Amino acid sequence: MIGSSQRETLYCEVCGSEIRGPAYRAEVDGVEMTLCPSCYYKLSKSGRARLVRRRSERRVRRPRRPRIEMYDIVGDYDERIRSAREAKGWSTAVLAQKLRISESMLKKIESGKMKPTIDLARRMEKLLGIELLVPTEFEDEEYTAPPPGGLTLGDIVVVRRDED
Ligand SMILES: [Zn+2]
Repeated sequence: MIGSSQRETLYCEVCGSEIRGPAYRAEVDGVEMTLCPSCYYKLSKSGRARLVRRRSERRVRRPRRPRIEMYDIVGDYDERIRSAREAKGWSTAVLAQKLRISESMLKKIESGKMKPTIDLARRMEKLLGIELLVPTEFEDEEYTAPPPGGLTLGDIVVVRRDED
């Protein structure tokens, strides 16, 4: 297969070995290079390597950034659904069938006794042309704080560099 080179093989530009763990992009004596962890630690200890940025590991899937997409169902979802359904002239049976849910479930939702799931709300939004989901705010710190005791050596290096 051509062009499936998302995973590039990295070689240490100091010792020439294939980098299997994290790769480091560092300036060594003013020249930007890709280093294996052991060369990076050796050279940074002696002050010759200065981290530019950390490359992601070759085999590990791109570290997923916490994509925080949280939604909440609007408070008056029951009214919105019912009035939109009535505006279309659909009975609860018809709408339930279109949504592939039971009519009794739809009735519960329309009477506010049951909140639709996000997935169901999305389908209702499309079908009825209404808005049921509102993005909720997320707490940044919760996701950016490193797990206690969970720092790897590489993370520590990066953190220290960033504080410079
Ligand atoms: Zn090396």
